Amino acid sequence: MAVTVLVTGGTGYIGGEVIDQLLARGYSVNTTVRNKKKSELRLRARWPDAGERLKVFQADLMSDDGWAEANAGCDAVAHVASPFPLGVPKDKNELVVPAREGTLRALRFAKAAGVTRFVQTSSAAAIAYGHPEKDHFDHTDWTNLDAGVPPYIESKTVAERAARDWAAENAPGMVFCSVNPVAVFGPVDNDDLSTSTEMLKQIIDGSIPLLPNMGISVCDVRDVGKAHVLAIEAPADRIRGERFPTATKFMWISEMAEAVRRRTPEFASNVATKQMPDWLVKLLAPFVPTLKQVRSELGNVREVSGTHTEEVLGYKFIDPEQTLEDTARSLVEHGIVKL
Ligand code: NAP
Repeated sequence: MAVTVLVTGGTGYIGGEVIDQLLARGYSVNTTVRNKKKSELRLRARWPDAGERLKVFQADLMSDDGWAEANAGCDAVAHVASPFPLGVPKDKNELVVPAREGTLRALRFAKAAGVTRFVQTSSAAAIAYGHPEKDHFDHTDWTNLDAGVPPYIESKTVAERAARDWAAENAPGMVFCSVNPVAVFGPVDNDDLSTSTEMLKQIIDGSIPLLPNMGISVCDVRDVGKAHVLAIEAPADRIRGERFPTATKFMWISEMAEAVRRRTPEFASNVATKQMPDWLVKLLAPFVPTLKQVRSELGNVREVSGTHTEEVLGYKFIDPEQTLEDTARSLVEHGIVKL
């Protein structure tokens, strides 16, 4: 069993959850951050009792500095760090290059340090795009880059492909698998919200006054963390080369808003009830960066099955309405949504 695990991107939503669960199970954790001076105090405040079991290293996906130190003494790596912005960059390489190069860098340094297991946080972005004829997907599907997909989708697909090819060719002895979450929600620890949680916040605080006709598949950050931990712990033959989508249910934004209204009526006074007509999304998209992404998703169903993950790793995902309720409660408790 792994004893020390490197979790890259410890400041992130998912990275923090993976660290949380590993520390709770008795592991020692090394983690990378881009700015140690800025982030170490925050991480120590979150896990005040971790002491020497938590070590923080400065390492950027785009530089070799710090990676050898971060990997030293580690048995397994959960490679979570990757750029995940809310908007769309002008140049897709702002995302594609760090995602791909960063993953290969993490793999190279892991192999050099003798790491025997590498779990990459990929995404449903690498599964469910570029197939207009399909609306149901599972772990066997791959995003079709030839169809032309947004930069973030391309970055995750290219990074997972590159990682699998590199691991097969250069590190056959290292057990590699990926966790492929759909949109992640669940309790938050601070106001540095990830893209998916930011969207729910905007629904609850009323910043989204009309609900666009789009949907997303929902999963819970606690289930994403658990998939990483179980992938680190499971027998090698069970997880080698696997892809583990974490996904419960595809929900229209209007269904998510309805779930918030039903499960947390006390927080729902600002939640929009009316739909934004598709023509208005199209009209505003050139001027509102987030609506640009919404435009290409209008009316699309992208259901991703997580059944394979539940079966192979042996646990049941949290009910999606519970996830949304817990997210809403946590956003209010932390004062991130002010009512
Ligand atoms: P997040 O909170 O924004 O975390 C991203 C992490 O990556 C941060 O720790 C960030 O560090 C780090 N990072 C970004 N660029 C970096 C660079 N150049 N060098 C080093 N570190 C860098 O996002 P998240 O939701 O936790 O996402 C984590 C992973 O899950 C990503 O791989 C993302 O693609 C994947 N994912 C997320 C979702 C979702 O809905 N949240 C769904 C599917 C997959 P800083 O703090 O320094 O910025």
